[in-house]
Amino acid sequence: MNKILWQGFLTVAMFFVLWGVFYQIDWMKLFEVEKLGDTTEEKLGDLMWKYFLQEEKMVKGDAEAVVDSILTSVCKANEIDRNLIKLHVAEKSDVNAFALPDGHIMVYSGLIRTCNSPEELAGVLSHELAHITNHHVMKKLVKEVGLAVLISMTTGGNAGEVIAETARTLSSTAFDRTLEREADLAAVDYLAKADINPEPFADFLFSLALGEHKATKYFTWMSTHPDTKERAEAIVSYAKGKVTNPKSPVSKGLWDRAKAQLE
Ligand SMILES: [Zn+2]
Repeated sequence: MNKILWQGFLTVAMFFVLWGVFYQIDWMKLFEVEKLGDTTEEKLGDLMWKYFLQEEKMVKGDAEAVVDSILTSVCKANEIDRNLIKLHVAEKSDVNAFALPDGHIMVYSGLIRTCNSPEELAGVLSHELAHITNHHVMKKLVKEVGLAVLISMTTGGNAGEVIAETARTLSSTAFDRTLEREADLAAVDYLAKADINPEPFADFLFSLALGEHKATKYFTWMSTHPDTKERAEAIVSYAKGKVTNPKSPVSKGLWDRAKAQLE
């Protein structure tokens, strides 16, 4: 009997030790992200953005205007300073959008082509915006690339390949599930505040999961955002009753012209 009690005691003690260790790691990570500070994030954002500027051709005209207009109205309704978000639209068939350090958001024309309505696009944009406002980008970088590498990138000289690798990490790997869920729910709140119906965002995820779109092989956003069906269901239930009087995020004219430009 004594032996059993002793074993029980050991198990409980082990549990608390492990629990403590895990918490320690989390605290360290949090501390590291804080320690990096704004200047490092600014430099990293600049490096990543210059990498993409070199690799890709930017899109102007109505296609850029439609994304800008949606983002601006979501920011305005949610009291987010639009000037802190640096929006870029690039010509690429990949259906993708992603956030970079220091408030950069990259949107590929493939995403605009694939969205059936401005509300779908507004959903994806709000999700990426939430990654920025919740400081997910730097957390992901510290986890995936490591603090030492990040600092050496901003202080060292010739780090071309490291910069390219880090940029690819941001555009093609997923955040962990907790952060994705946080971004989804924040996106619903952002849309709701802007009187934009969140349901098309869920529909967009459903159709990705079912492979209903023609250009399925270009769906980078799906590979970086897994469990799409489950996420769509969570969005639908969280969004229920939040928007009673939905408005279109942009005029039909601008939406049609942007679509025509990308034909
Ligand atoms: Zn995401």
